[in-house]
Amino acid sequence: MEQKQTINFGAGPAKLPQSVLLQAQKELLNFSSTGISVLEMSHRSSDFNKILDKTKSLLRELRVCLTHFSLYRNIPDNYKVMFLQGGGSGQFSAVPLNLIGLKKDRCADYLVTGTWSAKAAKEAEKYGKVNIVHPKLDSYTKIPDSSSWTLNPSASYVYYCCNETVHGVEYNFTPETNGVVLVSDMSSNFLSRPVDVSKFGLIFAGAQKNVGCAGVTVVIVREDLLGHTLNECPIVLDYKVQAEMDSLYNTPPCFSIYIMGLVLEWIKNNGGSAAMETLNKQKSAMIYDMINASNGFYVCPVDVSCRSRMNVPFRAMGKKEGDEALEKEFLDGAAKRGMKSVGGIRASLYNAVTLEDSEALATYMKEFLEQHQK
Ligand code: PLP
Repeated sequence: MEQKQTINFGAGPAKLPQSVLLQAQKELLNFSSTGISVLEMSHRSSDFNKILDKTKSLLRELRVCLTHFSLYRNIPDNYKVMFLQGGGSGQFSAVPLNLIGLKKDRCADYLVTGTWSAKAAKEAEKYGKVNIVHPKLDSYTKIPDSSSWTLNPSASYVYYCCNETVHGVEYNFTPETNGVVLVSDMSSNFLSRPVDVSKFGLIFAGAQKNVGCAGVTVVIVREDLLGHTLNECPIVLDYKVQAEMDSLYNTPPCFSIYIMGLVLEWIKNNGGSAAMETLNKQKSAMIYDMINASNGFYVCPVDVSCRSRMNVPFRAMGKKEGDEALEKEFLDGAAKRGMKSVGGIRASLYNAVTLEDSEALATYMKEFLEQHQK
């Protein structure tokens, strides 16, 4: 039976590279001549250990920027890499439970630039004092200028969400914290570009957008930050325990780790995070250029300086603001062309989304505009 062709712009879980799905399919019943599936393999077996080790070393290596001029390096040796459960939301709790006790005041600075950092800040309030470092935003369409931030030098850490998936707000700079530990939620732009890990105390990312499927969350933490966990921290969220046990304190999400290994290999074979960045710039530019050239027919509410390369939210305005019938027509037309979940209207352009996929969307936007513009 011929497979239905769908272009998946879903916000996550999101599109996986076709070659990864095919390899997983091929190996599903008999992984690497073991005679069993990864789905039924003991997490204590040597075969699974090989998968875990391979995935970890690929990840360490993939922070490398492949240009000669770059300062970016591998994940430094003084960082632990863990594969945990509980998703990004689990980390909203794990971060304060593990890090807010770093200093005696038990307080943390949060930048709140969208839904996900707002949720993280609310969760942290259960465990200590939370200071929102900038004036409250009326809408999540910009990153407040750093001259308006009041950072607390006694804070245990400064937290921000590097890419706000819902609002399409992305940092294209690393916040300066005057030596205070920096924590970042990179769930929706992880490995979409190179990052200098040494600037961070901790980075976490759910895999289900850029590096795999749901079930596993990558946590990269600097070693000296381990061991300050609050007593009330559930043991499965205790970084020190999980780091010492190589993410095997309890049964890990074995299959999700295996899929992540395949995706990391795919990223490596396709030029690493630097090549992903080049493609992601091109893909998102196609959509933003279309919006900019539409004379207000399409509108993206996000400040130009922080428009996300991963999630592009926009509206079709037509002649009046918020024309819902027009937007419904746009989405119905997209669905007819096999475009899935342009949701809201929001196009997510993660690593596995191809240039051709973006091109198809830009072409559709142009045709739709021409049909409706007089
Ligand atoms: N952080 C960001 C930036 C997200 O986009 C999401 C989910 O989409 C989360 C955190 C929450 O992740 P999870 O659903 O895995 O708990």
